[in-house]
Amino acid sequence: MSNRVVEGRMVTAESLAELIEGESPMEATEIEDADRECPDCGGNVLTVGYMPSVTSFVTGYKCQDCDWHDSEAE
Ligand SMILES: [Zn+2]
Repeated sequence: MSNRVVEGRMVTAESLAELIEGESPMEATEIEDADRECPDCGGNVLTVGYMPSVTSFVTGYKCQDCDWHDSEAE
């Protein structure tokens, strides 16, 4: 299942990465459930890996219920 609902909207891996990064990634992996809860609202957190540029890979996290998000560059 590649499409998930975030803040009431259906997102793909690419559009989820765009919500986290603020711009479209070059590439994005599948959306998965992160093994953590949102620090703001306790909601379910999704994770997606994406490449903002050819030389970088980022793991992004996004709450399904509020606008909290985080990212870790590798
Ligand atoms: Zn939240």
